[in-house]
Amino acid sequence: MVRGEIRKLFTQSEVYCLRVSSSIAIPWNELRERAQHATSTSYAPYSHVTVGACAVTTDGRIIEGANVENASYGLTLCAECSLVSDLIRQGGGRIAAVSIVAGDGEPIAPCGRCRQVLFEHGGNDLEIDAGDGVTPTRLGDLLPNAFGPEDVGLRRS
Ligand SMILES: [Zn+2]
Repeated sequence: MVRGEIRKLFTQSEVYCLRVSSSIAIPWNELRERAQHATSTSYAPYSHVTVGACAVTTDGRIIEGANVENASYGLTLCAECSLVSDLIRQGGGRIAAVSIVAGDGEPIAPCGRCRQVLFEHGGNDLEIDAGDGVTPTRLGDLLPNAFGPEDVGLRRS
């Protein structure tokens, strides 16, 4: 498969190469408040750990998610998975910044799987709420040398 075909296959990968603009003001307080509110929509009958996520896209849209547990445990969806579903449901785009909080309102770090899920839709420069509203964490620092959509195309025989 030639590179052009790969780009058509992974239309998001063209956007994937773009740096997230750091010129947009991230509304951290709003993201955290909405993420905490999203915890009220979580489905967590097993762990009773409710998690909500709220993000702003590079074009200014707000997306939200909440965790959805499953009796099999392994099929549980984190709030970030639900958030990305909301992104796709809204027509796609790139995530600029995200706040992920537990039911107590305190920011929590994305799990390993969700770092990969977020990378696909935000890249290295996606900013993650670190709790102080001043010094967000870059996803690239949490998931260095990440495997991304371009790697799929480069390694396909
Ligand atoms: Zn997760």
